[in-house]
Amino acid sequence: MVGIVIVSHSARLADGVVELARQMAGPDVAMVAAGGMDLPDRPLGTDAALIARAIEAAWADDGVLVLMDLGSAVLAAEMAAEMMPDERRPRVQLCEAPLVEGAVAAAVAARLGDPLDQVAAEARGALAAKTAHLAGPPPAAQQEPPPAAQQEPPPAAVPQEPPAGPGGGHPLELRIVVANRLGLHARPAARFVQAAGRFDATVTAENVTVPAGPVSARSLNGVATLGVQQGHELLVRASGPQAADALAAVRDLAARDFDEPRPHASPPGPGAPGGPGPGPGGRGTDGGAAAPAAQHGPAAVRPAAGTVLRGIPGSPGLAVGGAVHLRQAAARVPREPAADPAAELARLDAALAATRHEVEAARDAVAARTGDRYEAGIFDAHLLFLADEALLGPARRRIREGRNAADAWDSAVADVTGRWQRLTDSYQRERVRDLDSIRAQVLGHLLGERRRGPGGAGIVVAAELTPADTAGLDPAVVSGIATAAGGPASHAAILARALRIPAVLGLGPDVLAVPEGTQLLLDGDRGSVQVAPGPAGLAAAGREARRRRRAGQRARRRAAEPAATADGAAVEVAANAGSPEDVRRAVEAGADGIGLLRTEFLFLAASSMPTEAEQAAVYADLAAVLAGRPMIIRTLDVGADKPLPYLPRAAEPNPALGQRGIRLGLARTDVLLTQLRAVLRTAAAHPVKLMFPMVATEDEVRAALRLVSQARRALAAEGAAVPAEGAMEVGIMIEVPAAALTAARLAPAVDFFSVGTNDLTQYTLAADREVAAVAGLGDALHPAVLTLIGRAAAAAAGAGRWTGVCGELAADPLAVPLLLGLGVRELSVTAAAVAAVKEVVRATDLAAAAECARQAVGLPSADAVRDLVRSHRWCRA
Ligand code: PEP
Ligand code: MG
Repeated sequence: MVGIVIVSHSARLADGVVELARQMAGPDVAMVAAGGMDLPDRPLGTDAALIARAIEAAWADDGVLVLMDLGSAVLAAEMAAEMMPDERRPRVQLCEAPLVEGAVAAAVAARLGDPLDQVAAEARGALAAKTAHLAGPPPAAQQEPPPAAQQEPPPAAVPQEPPAGPGGGHPLELRIVVANRLGLHARPAARFVQAAGRFDATVTAENVTVPAGPVSARSLNGVATLGVQQGHELLVRASGPQAADALAAVRDLAARDFDEPRPHASPPGPGAPGGPGPGPGGRGTDGGAAAPAAQHGPAAVRPAAGTVLRGIPGSPGLAVGGAVHLRQAAARVPREPAADPAAELARLDAALAATRHEVEAARDAVAARTGDRYEAGIFDAHLLFLADEALLGPARRRIREGRNAADAWDSAVADVTGRWQRLTDSYQRERVRDLDSIRAQVLGHLLGERRRGPGGAGIVVAAELTPADTAGLDPAVVSGIATAAGGPASHAAILARALRIPAVLGLGPDVLAVPEGTQLLLDGDRGSVQVAPGPAGLAAAGREARRRRRAGQRARRRAAEPAATADGAAVEVAANAGSPEDVRRAVEAGADGIGLLRTEFLFLAASSMPTEAEQAAVYADLAAVLAGRPMIIRTLDVGADKPLPYLPRAAEPNPALGQRGIRLGLARTDVLLTQLRAVLRTAAAHPVKLMFPMVATEDEVRAALRLVSQARRALAAEGAAVPAEGAMEVGIMIEVPAAALTAARLAPAVDFFSVGTNDLTQYTLAADREVAAVAGLGDALHPAVLTLIGRAAAAAAGAGRWTGVCGELAADPLAVPLLLGLGVRELSVTAAAVAAVKEVVRATDLAAAAECARQAVGLPSADAVRDLVRSHRWCRA
């Protein structure tokens, strides 16, 4: 094994580099630090004698690689090499590679037993992953792609030919969906290289999701530059005498999440499928026959009869039916060059035309079935993709350069989706799925692989549905939709609602392990799916369906009337809005106003910072749609997870705990002041309130209020109309436990609180709201969350302020009486929930609700809270 010496002016730096590389490559690598001078206090500098001793200490017959930092380190290392005995000197190689990255890559390669030249080459290529990441395509989708020269893959990522299989046949294959939160970053990538590289086999790895590679699985640089992120599919191919062993090792490693700590590990229960995916040479080759567990990583467990799977409500309604799996083959895109560009261009045009025809047919079918142009308009966006030069230009250029049509189209779309994924928030990530859907449709035509519809009547179970899949479902045959992934903002969910097909999304991989035909009871309102519910469960579901139908009719009739509790307390039921369409829907749904305008849409959609005038114009338009109803405008709540292209920020390991919300606003007062001025100008003419997100401390509140005053004074000095001091209500969101706990200090400074239960729950229970595996833990009805809400509401009332709730909890019919009982007097919910929430308010007796809330905060769990509320009269209303 090649030895490695790390030379640095700083002893601590050299020691640290060795420690880091050992952590990646394992303790066995012969690595020696030669940092600082050979003096008692080891001051900064380099020392040839010290380096020479380090080379001796690291000595191996395979040679020693010396990596060094700057300036005199190079001279000292050269002198040290000169000091070596003649027979050893040729096997000492000084390497110009970057110190830290080079050391890690070299250590991993050395550990695999690579020869000296190969270890040095790995070290030299070690910047490839960083280069690819930082010098990637520009973030704005509409920008021109960089010149071809800049698109060259870094040297280490030069695609490899997939290995030939044993005896020259097909190589063995393994497909893995990477579950690690940060994907295959350096450490798991190093583990992967170690696992794959220690066998007598040629192994390659390819990122199938964002096509990249194949690269040699022995190269850390190659694997790191595949850009494998969480959820990406990795295709590993192996050939040679120990190909099967190599793939088995990789499969085991993937099952251990690449030896990363697994935050949500749960032991597989009885009946769990035997392995994480198809074994070497198994069924994973074409992807279409892959077992459900293989599509979603190692965690799928076949649910026992009676199990209730929890997901995200996607489309309301109850449904009963047998599970009908919809398994779509991941297209296998050929990467071979094509001889006849003209023929390939014609093939692409034909596939585009055929897809256009299909999309138009889907649009017309949806419009005919729903009578609603809005939902059908989803497909207009798809038609725009099919004519978008940002996709077609690069695709055609690649064909002219010799690539086949499928490869050219696939990679052109992948480039654009990659850019989108970098600049979008979770809502906009859903739009990427639309583009993916179009990519798959066009590929289907090019490859002659058509997507299949469900094979029979029942509840469609799928990993995820595209809008096209959903539009193709016939409500007469499909009684419900249950998906492992996806969110309520997906166009598939929007279409399911339009088609009135009950849907539950984000159920996790277990739903894919439900055997075909198993009876399912799906509740699209509660976001649950019960497996094999039994006769009593089915009878209860029938009764519940009838009750909901009657209640829904009654609620819709009275949706626009104000709501008051049974004992006469007025409660404002407003709507949350994240787009102008949401505001229009809120008015149609009978909302009393907008309780939360998430202004992120204005910023995320723009390629440069929206100006004060642009923002004010949008706010004024929305206020006009509301025709006198109040609107609470929340200042920008973006963070490192929702990067804005014009507001570059460092990536954060845990964006939920990073510089988001008010923290970012106070760090970038230019951005916040612009927004405050726009809000103040709007408030001069409309009933607008202002709200700050993610407040944790009193200092933040005071600093934000000072900025409001500053903006007001500046506008007044410029002669602009502004609301008088105190005329525009200013509130804060209570979504950080610290704010709830110190609410008594915060309340006098503001006009209102609005509790963001989505974040308050994730911070209280330390359960990331984006991680499906801990979704069950992040239950907003947990007594701990209710305690904090009660504390905030009491503090507000004590200071004569009001409290609202704008998190998802406000739309939960079981939660509404509790929230009112805790002192909440405003609820802001999705437009679709307004009518039902008003009905629950009307059925609530405040005194009884207060007693119920008092008991709830003392209960041990969210389920116990649910049982308590269900035992009250209002639940049977
Ligand atoms: C919340 O956290 O509950 C909330 C309403 O804010 P958002 O969901 O936009 O973070
Ligand atoms: Mg929030």
